[in-house]
Amino acid sequence: MADFDYEELLDRARSNIPEEISNRARWSLPSPQIMIEGSNTIFRNFIEVVNHMDRDENHVYQFLLNELGTSGSRDGPRARFKGRIPPKRLKKTIVNYVNTYVKCTQCGAPDTHFIKEDRTTLLKCQACGATRPVKL
Ligand SMILES: [Zn+2]
Repeated sequence: MADFDYEELLDRARSNIPEEISNRARWSLPSPQIMIEGSNTIFRNFIEVVNHMDRDENHVYQFLLNELGTSGSRDGPRARFKGRIPPKRLKKTIVNYVNTYVKCTQCGAPDTHFIKEDRTTLLKCQACGATRPVKL
């Protein structure tokens, strides 16, 4: 075990994934444009980032409000949060959303969608077919 370093493990993991899928796994979101305006925080390209995730904008917005423990309002393409939220913290919260509701934990691909099975909602990966339960 001690012979493997982290990079080596990553390479080994990648080499097991077909080329097309590993390209999609390198998917990234547009950089969030965040600015502080008085005592509010403005996420200027909220809709652009959400469109990239292919998720419901209200779901993303509610998640951010809950995680940040604040309230706010939506304003066209922008989202507004009460209080001065450090951009770093907001970015981390976006990453949490992606890890929880977008990324496949098996192959890392973002090509996923929700499916309903009985009373559970599953996140299904279109790239590798893996499913995992999510709490909406
Ligand atoms: Zn997958």
